[in-house]
Amino acid sequence: MSDTLTIALPSKGRMERPATELLRQAGFRFERTERSLAVPVRDAPIELLFVRSSDVVELVADGAADLGITGLDLTRETSAPVTPVLDLGFGRCTLVAAAPENSGVDRIEDFAGLRVATSHPTVVGSFFASKSIDIVPVPLAGSVEVAPRLDVADAVADLVSTGSTMLVNGLRPVAEILQSQAILIHRDSSPLSDTARTVTTMIEAALAARRKRYVVMNADEESVPAIAEIIPGIEAPTVLPLVANGKVAVHSVVDESDVWRVLPLLREAGATGILVLPVQQVLA
Ligand code: AMP
Repeated sequence: MSDTLTIALPSKGRMERPATELLRQAGFRFERTERSLAVPVRDAPIELLFVRSSDVVELVADGAADLGITGLDLTRETSAPVTPVLDLGFGRCTLVAAAPENSGVDRIEDFAGLRVATSHPTVVGSFFASKSIDIVPVPLAGSVEVAPRLDVADAVADLVSTGSTMLVNGLRPVAEILQSQAILIHRDSSPLSDTARTVTTMIEAALAARRKRYVVMNADEESVPAIAEIIPGIEAPTVLPLVANGKVAVHSVVDESDVWRVLPLLREAGATGILVLPVQQVLA
């Protein structure tokens, strides 16, 4: 058995770019040429396997990959023994039961006896079964939303993020079945190896960094206590002397969502030359 850790991730589709961007932000350096399936990570005992998002689950379940990035919906659709390790915050979508406008299907109970087109027959089947509503699932790999127009189905259960595709196809959402997003998964029974733990920590640190900004500013020494109160940072702000004019530089970290609130307060407290910078990784 090799000591190389294998991570399976989507080779195409809507999760491909955010997944590779996240790994790069987490510090992985790799060069992916088109069509390359297995790509080594530079300076680390890690290999990336680029496969279809739906195959990621199977490869992790089989042990062919140690970790995988895929959609929660896809893990729920198979009974493969995989466990989420981390929510990754992208690929957010909702599996929605929807029916054509003017079909008279307004409540979930109205789905009884209908043919429901979906690429998630397992999840959809257990959703309706849990409500004791009998439906006839029509499994389709794609183009679910056109099924009613083709008279292949009476209604659909499909993934939406903005909802505009459904609207364009004359479908009205009736109920939410599952909220999904991209997740990092591993095999149920196998404990995380040291390398897998390190990878998880690096990814977590990159995700945490997305919610943070590094702020740097100059100030008179007397202003520092007031500034420190506004931007306490992870433990406390760093204060460094400037070469000239007796001022100091104050460095700290703030929540991205707080930046707009904090900047005017810092100016009022006497800060000048304020810089707001992105953060690559945060390990608290
Ligand atoms: P792919 O077919 O490779 O683009 O991947 C499909 C997966 O992307 C789905 O199973 C979801 O996990 C995720 N996804 C995120 N947003 C959407 C959306 N609006 N429609 C379909 N899939 C989505």
